[in-house]
Amino acid sequence: MVSANADKGFSYEITHAPETGLARAGVITTPHGQIQTPAFIPVGTKANVKTVLPEAMEELGAQALLANAYHLYLQPGPSILDEAGGLGAFMNWDKPTFTDSGGFQVLSLGVGFKKVLAMDAQTFRSDQVIAKNKERLAHVDDEGVTFKSHLDGSMHRFTSEVSMQIQHQLGADIMFAFDECTTLHNTRPYQELAMERTYNWAIRCLDEHKRLTDARADKPYQALFGVIQGAQYEDLRKKAATDLGGMSSSGIEFDGFGIGGALDKDSLGTIVGWVNSTLPENKPKHLLGIGAPEDLFVGVENGVDTFDCVLASRIARTSAVYTMTGRYNVSNAPYVRDFNPIDDECDCYTCKNYTRAYLCHLFRGKEMLAGTLATIHNERFIVRLVDQMRQAIIDGTFQEMKKEFMGRYAHKSGQARD
Ligand SMILES: [Zn+2]
Repeated sequence: MVSANADKGFSYEITHAPETGLARAGVITTPHGQIQTPAFIPVGTKANVKTVLPEAMEELGAQALLANAYHLYLQPGPSILDEAGGLGAFMNWDKPTFTDSGGFQVLSLGVGFKKVLAMDAQTFRSDQVIAKNKERLAHVDDEGVTFKSHLDGSMHRFTSEVSMQIQHQLGADIMFAFDECTTLHNTRPYQELAMERTYNWAIRCLDEHKRLTDARADKPYQALFGVIQGAQYEDLRKKAATDLGGMSSSGIEFDGFGIGGALDKDSLGTIVGWVNSTLPENKPKHLLGIGAPEDLFVGVENGVDTFDCVLASRIARTSAVYTMTGRYNVSNAPYVRDFNPIDDECDCYTCKNYTRAYLCHLFRGKEMLAGTLATIHNERFIVRLVDQMRQAIIDGTFQEMKKEFMGRYAHKSGQARD
């Protein structure tokens, strides 16, 4: 079963689907190559994975990278990437690329939180949440979001059309529709309002996407994923999945879907399950901003094909490293004279060539190589873990694999987007 737009170079095929549950293995084909799914997509926020060369990302098994439209819009500007031949060419990455819509980042400015979102809504007092000592830098209305640049304080406005124009210029293989993210703390009426806006913005994204695809017919095809909102409410999530799953405008549909919004750990599997059991089965599903090991199992189990998250690289730069038994900080005292690799079960470049003692020394000396080596390890750990889940689905051993991993791994929460 191959989804639409195969003639344009984009398709998704389910290759293995166990009889029970939503988990599946498949292949996404893009103009820049294939992605074997489930897959973890490392984040290169500003067209680079911080501290790591693209060659090293390829060597550690990354099949694709995701960059952020908001950051690249502000600097260097999307027209520069367009002139360079698109995101991949600009950053010397010849495999598939993703960009997000910029919606999450500009709406984060509205609340001053990094991980939790809320909007400006004059009618709902409980929706006025904002981080302590932060200025509200974004205001949302029915047409889009007006925001102040975090770089120089200049004013900007994103709408569905602007987001599509930026993402077409950035030139990634997979793009996301402009959506309004909310928090789990917003009121129910506000969630309904935000979902209605996201619905209207989705139609406008399809229309503008069609116009730009036709106008730029000489460029490789860029797939567009609709984003499912609805917070923690079953009826809203299912309505959004039904509406966007069946949406067609200007004669086109979404090529796949993203699952967005703040998601708490306890409800993650339930919410993703509602959405993925409602969306069309034969289209790829991406879970935005999720990347902690235990959450990846829950996503895969509930039908997620791809993930992105900055957590692996962000925590690496603070000396936190993953192992099969949990996370630890390699700069801590116990590792000063520890000549073992970060994780003796890991096959990454760092673990093959360096010791905990060396990493500990680099971090304490504030050497830049510390971040590079720790990021290579963490990204490899997460990429490989999801690859192992894929193999377990193919082998019919996913539940056993999950049980074994969870029996050893000490939990740490995490949802993170730049
Ligand atoms: Zn390693």
